[in-house]
Amino acid sequence: MADVAVIGAGMGGLAAAARLAHAGHAVTVFEAAPTYGGKLGVTRLGEFTFDTGPSLLTLPHVYRDLFAETGGDLDEHVDIVPVDPLCHYRFPDGSVLDLPHAEHEVAPALAAALGPDAGEQWTRLMSRGRRLWDLVGEPVLHRPLNGVPDLLRHSRNVRDLLAIAPWRTLRGAGRGLADPRLRMLLDRYATYTGSDPRRVPALMTVVPYIEQHHGGWYVQGGLRRLADALHAHCRELGVRFHFAAPVTGIDTDGRGVRGLRVAGESVPADIVVSDADAHHLHRDLLTDPRAARARRALARTQPSLSGFVLLLALHGTTTPRRHHRVLFPADYDAEFDAVFGQRPRPVDDPTVYVCSPDDPTVAPSGHEAWFVLVNAPRHGPVHWDAPGLAKDYADKVLAVLAARGLDVRDRVLHRAIRTPADWERDTGSVGGSLYGSSSNGARAALLRPANRSRVPGLFLVGGSAHPGGGLPLVALSAAIVARLIGPA
Ligand SMILES: Cc1cc2nc3c(=O)[nH]c(=O)nc-3n(C[C@H](O)[C@H](O)[C@H](O)COP(=O)(O)OP(=O)(O)OC[C@H]3O[C@@H](n4cnc5c(N)ncnc54)[C@H](O)[C@@H]3O)c2cc1C
Repeated sequence: MADVAVIGAGMGGLAAAARLAHAGHAVTVFEAAPTYGGKLGVTRLGEFTFDTGPSLLTLPHVYRDLFAETGGDLDEHVDIVPVDPLCHYRFPDGSVLDLPHAEHEVAPALAAALGPDAGEQWTRLMSRGRRLWDLVGEPVLHRPLNGVPDLLRHSRNVRDLLAIAPWRTLRGAGRGLADPRLRMLLDRYATYTGSDPRRVPALMTVVPYIEQHHGGWYVQGGLRRLADALHAHCRELGVRFHFAAPVTGIDTDGRGVRGLRVAGESVPADIVVSDADAHHLHRDLLTDPRAARARRALARTQPSLSGFVLLLALHGTTTPRRHHRVLFPADYDAEFDAVFGQRPRPVDDPTVYVCSPDDPTVAPSGHEAWFVLVNAPRHGPVHWDAPGLAKDYADKVLAVLAARGLDVRDRVLHRAIRTPADWERDTGSVGGSLYGSSSNGARAALLRPANRSRVPGLFLVGGSAHPGGGLPLVALSAAIVARLIGPA
């Protein structure tokens, strides 16, 4: 049995803690914030409850497996329900698409909304997505990946590598789609990894494929319930938690990690698992020279985008009622230029995403709790704490919504704003990046910081390590780390 110290009680840290405790280790979690969940947060405004982070759950079986493999049953704790339609899209020409939850209904819905060829073109692209998923799903997402030689070993033959074609971009993969609205739809999936469709590898075609094949899901009461369930499960497994306990350093010697420093005190540990942002880990917590290479590699990556969030408590209900809405701008590239370009700035005419669950436990009857998200450059390049900026930008986002047919300005009872600076303060992600490093470029997409550090005894989980950000992937990173550490 090893003494394992976990830095951070985000979903990656919690998932790793559950697996390691079930494997017989003594696990203690140190979390800087006063609560667990990390980006999977919750806020209450009056009688309204808001998820402040994730609003769409994909691959729910990853969490079911996590519970089942650690002696629990997720469905005893949460009610995971399908979202149908999965998303309502509004394109710049005013046309709309309700993307169904069921995969077999997608092509007919596309044909009906966008024209007869649209369904067929999309289906062709999705079958490429399925082939890529078959090639990379198992080798890349379920195993550690440590450098290009590893990737080559996992690709069974040259034809596999040609299919993966790491040099092709998602934008390039969409060239076969004749309708610009379909290309816009595809581009949007780059943002699921916080990236730019013009630079993210075509491999990301797996993202819409996974979403459509496995569906999009909601957790009744809000996605935060997933964090509640996993935290409770960890406690049952004997994991100990210290909240408001920021880790300020990792102690190492010639043999490897010796422990942590928490509030000036040394805490011995045989193994350290870090769920903290990999930039923060390498910049602020770790001075060991064996981490120099990882630090240099990280310095070469471009961080993923951040998000500007508006939480709106509204009186009245919107018709038609839709759980997820995406309202596209006229110029999608201008958005990526603003976020990732030489002169980062808040997006002038952003894509607006609205999540408005039809769930009586989050808003009183006749009311709605809206989570509104637009892509945003990180805090740092843009000074999001500048006086007036957040308020003015929130007003602008409401005006954009109104211009696209959703004017709710006279329905607002309460509103709250969360900027990239808030993400940085509350979750320790550098600049408020939502998904660690972006996948802008093939190397960046496939070769994120490895789960096993070169410092013996130090392991990395969570969205900034392999295999990446998003709720399912951070739980998969925990499964990889638990396997690397092994049973007690
Ligand atoms: C607005 C928003 C929308 C999103 N939408 C979706 C979505 O719809 N679907 C989806 O799947 N994903 C979504 N994501 C991404 C998803 O939330 C993350 O990928 C995932 O929750 C990250 O989990 P994590 O454990 O890697 O990191 P985090 O949740 O960031 O947790 C890291 C934890 O470590 C703690 N920590 C950091 N440094 C220290 C330290 N020095 N000492 C102690 N503790 C420390 C932090 O306080 C934090 O609690 C979204 C994220 C945001 C913010």
